[in-house]
Amino acid sequence: MNPPAIAIDGPAASGKSTVAKLIAKELGFTFINTGAMYRAVTWYVLQQGIDPANTEAVKAILPGIPLSFGKNGAVSTVMCNGRVLAEELTLQSTNDNVSTIAAIPEVRALLVEKQREYNTAEPVVMEGRDIGTVVFPNTPYKYFVTASEEVRAARRAAQGLTDSIAERDRKDSARACAPLTMAEDAKLVDTSDMSIEQVVAHIAADIRSRMA
Ligand code: C5P
Repeated sequence: MNPPAIAIDGPAASGKSTVAKLIAKELGFTFINTGAMYRAVTWYVLQQGIDPANTEAVKAILPGIPLSFGKNGAVSTVMCNGRVLAEELTLQSTNDNVSTIAAIPEVRALLVEKQREYNTAEPVVMEGRDIGTVVFPNTPYKYFVTASEEVRAARRAAQGLTDSIAERDRKDSARACAPLTMAEDAKLVDTSDMSIEQVVAHIAADIRSRMA
């Protein structure tokens, strides 16, 4: 049996990354940002001059893709040829194309396998869109973190990032393979009127009481 896995899913800019990272720290678990993995593939595809809409061309480069998925302390990292990717992951071009890449089933299969590997040896807090539905469907710890669209847009703007979150959510929810959706047994956490600290305290207390 694998160590515990905490699944945190939700739409773009719902605050789930920040929340998941803090919960992981509080519990002493490893934090895994799966959006960064889809973003890294997207960045690499664009670097190669491949049109993300050309599914066959994207699939063709997957077997030799020079990305690796590791950790820095208790936080997941993505590397390309041994170099940790950072700014590349939030470029406008990456934002604009990531939902197209994430809709390709072969991309998802590759990354889901890597995501599960993180949990074979250690407990994780993993955030994404399909963690509770596909990556760890059997975990009892599932949270769907959301906020109103206005609040989410304001949060992105405050980060100084332009990001068409409504468009990404639409594409992520509409795709055939592992769409953004709340698992039936997930707990809904609407963070519109909550501070980050309140959200973290609420979820961490729930996990602790259930693990006790
Ligand atoms: O979480 P983040 O906004 O960085 O995710 C970027 C994109 O990666 C999402 O809009 C979605 O297309 C894709 N994604 C996904 N499944 C995940 C995590 C992210 O499809 N588990």
